[in-house]
Amino acid sequence: PVRVRFAPSPTGNLHVGGARTALFNYLFARSKGGKFVLRIEDTDLERSTRESEEAVLRDLAWLGLDWDEGPGVGGDYGPYRQSERNAMYKQYAEKLLESGHVYRCFCSNEELEKMKEIAELKKLPPVYSGKWATAADGEVEEELAKGTPYTYRFRVPKEGSLKINDLIRGEVSWKLDTLGDFVIMRSNGQPVYNFCVTVDDATMAISHVIRAEEHLPNTLRQALIYKALGFPMPSFAHVSLILAPDRSKLSKRHGATSVGQYRDMGYLPQAMVNYLALLGWGDGTENEFFTIDQLVEKFSIGRVNKSGAVFDSTKLRWMNGQHLRAIPFEELSQLIGERWKSTGLLTESEGPFVEDAVQLLKDGIDLVTDSDTALSSLLSYPVHATLTSFCLCSPEGRPIVEDKLSEVSAHLLAAYDSGELFGALEEGLAGWQKWVKGFGKTLKRKGKSLFMPLRVLLTGKLHGPDMGSSVILIYKAGNHGIVSPQAG
Ligand code: GLU
Repeated sequence: PVRVRFAPSPTGNLHVGGARTALFNYLFARSKGGKFVLRIEDTDLERSTRESEEAVLRDLAWLGLDWDEGPGVGGDYGPYRQSERNAMYKQYAEKLLESGHVYRCFCSNEELEKMKEIAELKKLPPVYSGKWATAADGEVEEELAKGTPYTYRFRVPKEGSLKINDLIRGEVSWKLDTLGDFVIMRSNGQPVYNFCVTVDDATMAISHVIRAEEHLPNTLRQALIYKALGFPMPSFAHVSLILAPDRSKLSKRHGATSVGQYRDMGYLPQAMVNYLALLGWGDGTENEFFTIDQLVEKFSIGRVNKSGAVFDSTKLRWMNGQHLRAIPFEELSQLIGERWKSTGLLTESEGPFVEDAVQLLKDGIDLVTDSDTALSSLLSYPVHATLTSFCLCSPEGRPIVEDKLSEVSAHLLAAYDSGELFGALEEGLAGWQKWVKGFGKTLKRKGKSLFMPLRVLLTGKLHGPDMGSSVILIYKAGNHGIVSPQAG
């Protein structure tokens, strides 16, 4: 059965790279009817925190990547935190000692430093000399009796090579002669990262290890440990790095890189998931819009790209707009209405006004948070003051375009002050259209020469959503006291 895992180290927030690794694991598990396991790799006790763990779990849950086993949900292969699995690591370390795959190394730090220096002088790779690899039993007994501290070192074959068939990268092979015997347990009894990961993946019956490319060097050590423990090797898939637009490794200096930052900026989880999936994967068609269910249906690890994927925040924003508009209207209206009320823009979070406003503005926004500026800039435009100022100005010395505006604004101000315009707006779009027609006739203007100045004068902008609907909304907002005082 397919069992995959996401194994974050709780030393910070969930980064977009980690989120993509989690997503690929999730999609693989769901598409194969397998299990998605979450394991917390908190062996680095100094850097790991519970707050970080909680933040990572919250971000995964927000993305909708629910795990079948792990913290909070349990499972048959627990515990799911490395800090709670020490007894197991010990047990397997002893097993390897017994089978001779591991030996006790009594070298002191000074000795190890010396070894490195000598290797450097001889221009050899800084690998362990193998001093204790072949020690006689008597020598070991002696050190044990003296109470000399020791580490557990893994006996690496001195020649030959090791290869894996990576599901994304194809055959990857390493020569073993430059690796050197590595430590799997420190002298204080603390197991080393690569050893923990191997014991965990093996005892949790993980079938596929899907993780970032930067773990490839660990894979070599882990594969050796697998063999020594006699566990079947899982399949490996190493996903390429996420790059910044300048093709360097994506980092904080390129802007927001954590999932939480995007959530706080108003991004939708479904848009994040869709965008992250496209970082290195595609279904082979031009289609880029996918719901999570569609991703589960289409995903295949074989289609994941070997080369690095560029993180493009402009595209992510655009994608968010696609998903925003895919939300059923009622739900969208509720979402945006609640936002407008909570930010103090409106006094009501629902009703016909909110619906009309959402309908009018939704195509011009990509993020829910954009709706604030969209609405406030629409409603805060001072129609009457603008009309008045245009009419009072002397025509001399003014640019032609403004001069034309002043002619239209004089008539507009009259229609405004007499209440004629409002009367028309009371009758909705049909009323507006009728009024515009008459207005154009009086001024002997039509088309652009009528609509441009009208739009500029009535909305304060050269472009925007449907003018009639905009003007009606502005009028209704003032008339029904829907705009909260701060907005005006
Ligand atoms: N804990 C590792 C990390 O956060 C992941 C290790 C793995 O997937 O094997 O990078």
